[in-house]
Amino acid sequence: MGSLLEGKVAVVTGGSSGIGRATSLLFAEEGADVVVADLQREPREGGEPTDDLVRAAGRQSRYVRCDVTSQADVEQAMAAADELGGVDVLLNNAGIFFGGDFLETTEAEYDRMMDVNVKSVFFVAQAAARRMVAKGGGSIINLSSIAGLQGMAPFTTYCMAKGAVRLMTYSLAQELGPRNVRVNALHPGVIGTTMTMKDVPVVGHELGEVLLQTIPMGRHGKPEDVARAALYLASDLSGYVSGDSLRVDGGMMRI
Ligand code: NAD
Repeated sequence: MGSLLEGKVAVVTGGSSGIGRATSLLFAEEGADVVVADLQREPREGGEPTDDLVRAAGRQSRYVRCDVTSQADVEQAMAAADELGGVDVLLNNAGIFFGGDFLETTEAEYDRMMDVNVKSVFFVAQAAARRMVAKGGGSIINLSSIAGLQGMAPFTTYCMAKGAVRLMTYSLAQELGPRNVRVNALHPGVIGTTMTMKDVPVVGHELGEVLLQTIPMGRHGKPEDVARAALYLASDLSGYVSGDSLRVDGGMMRI
C-alpha cells in the first residue's frame, strides 16, 4: 500500500475487466477512490467485481453502468465521481478490438470502431476535463496502443482509431495545460486480457508465439504492467509530463 493517489478520485472506463480492472485496483492501493464505468459489472475474465475489490482495499467505489458511446451514461459516471469529491484522474480505457480484410470492411464496422474507440474517448475526456478545470487540475490518460504508432494489417480501422487517440492526446495537452490538466497516452503492446485471448486470438495462440519472437523482454504483458505505467501518469511523479506517449510493450516497438 502506498499513498501516491491519496485523496484523489479516479474514473476508469472499462474498469470491470483487464487493464482497467488492474489499474483500478492499483489506484485504490495507492489511496484513490474509484468510479468503475463499464457496460457490465462482471469482469470479462471472471472474479469479484472491481468495485467490490476496491472497497475491500479500504477505498470508496461506485460501479456505474455506462456505455461510453452514450453521453448521458458518461455524465452519470462523472456525477458518481462528483459525489466522491470530483474527478482528479481519468483512465480513458474502454475499447474494442477487431480486425478484418480492408476489402470486406462494412460501414457499420467502421462506424462501430470509431464510435467506441475515438468519439467516446473524446467526449469522456471532455466530460472529465470540464470538471477538472473547475476543480483546478487533473490527469487524463488515454489508452492508445502500439497500433496507434504503426500500421498493422488486418487492423486498419483499429490502427486509425488508436492513432486518432494519440493526436487527440497531444492536442488536448496544449489546450488544457494552461488549466493544469495533464493529458498523456499509454501505448500497450500485447497484453494478456480477454481482448487478446478471446476477441482476437493472440495470447495463448499461434500468433502470440510468433509475436513473442519480436519482443525483446520475451514475454507478453500483463494488465498490471500497464497499471503501473498508468499510476506514474496519474500521480505527481509525472507532474511535469504532458502531451507524451508511454509505450508498455516489452521493447517491441523501439521508436
Ligand atoms: P478487455 O476487453 O479486457 O476490457 C475492456 C473493458 O471495456 C470491458 O470491461 C468491457 O466491458 C468495457 N467496454 C467495452 N466497450 C464498452 C463501452 N462501449 N462502454 C463501456 N465499457 C466498455 O480489454 P483490455 O485489453 O483491458 O483493453 C483496454 C484498453 O486497452 C482498450 O482501449 C484497448 O484497445 C487497449 N489496448 C489493449 C491491448 C491489449 O493487448 N490487451 C493493447 C493495446 C491497447
